[in-house]
Amino acid sequence: MNCIFCKIVAGEIPSTKVYEDDTVLAFRDIQPMAPTHILVIPKAHIPSVDGVNGENSAVVAHIFEVIPGIAAKEKLVNGYRVVSNCGSDAGQTVPHLHFHILGGREMTLEMA
Ligand code: AMP
Ligand code: ZN
Repeated sequence: MNCIFCKIVAGEIPSTKVYEDDTVLAFRDIQPMAPTHILVIPKAHIPSVDGVNGENSAVVAHIFEVIPGIAAKEKLVNGYRVVSNCGSDAGQTVPHLHFHILGGREMTLEMA
């Protein structure tokens, strides 16, 4: 499949991994927007939040189970933001479901 994040999952494109298990991978964003900027993705291809349904939502729950541990390991003791952009108005650029973990600085209401 011609999907950059599927290629990262397959090891065809390098990434800086911070967490991995059977169904989930987390790696550092290549263009960080905060001191800590990590992407958490399901290994299975889901195009966006719009593609989440009763068949595949368990991995989304699992992603949210692993996020606190990733944040703790990154020492985001003052908090962090979790964002998922869905579709063009939201600025989604990679059509494989991903959750941004942003931390290490104070956030404004805008993600950027
Ligand atoms: P979004 O704009 O919400 O779809 O987020 C896509 C994110 O993927 C952006 O923050 C990009 O910087 C990031 N990104 C794109 N390609 C790579 C890559 N090869 N490794 C790590 N992050 C990437
Ligand atoms: Zn994919």
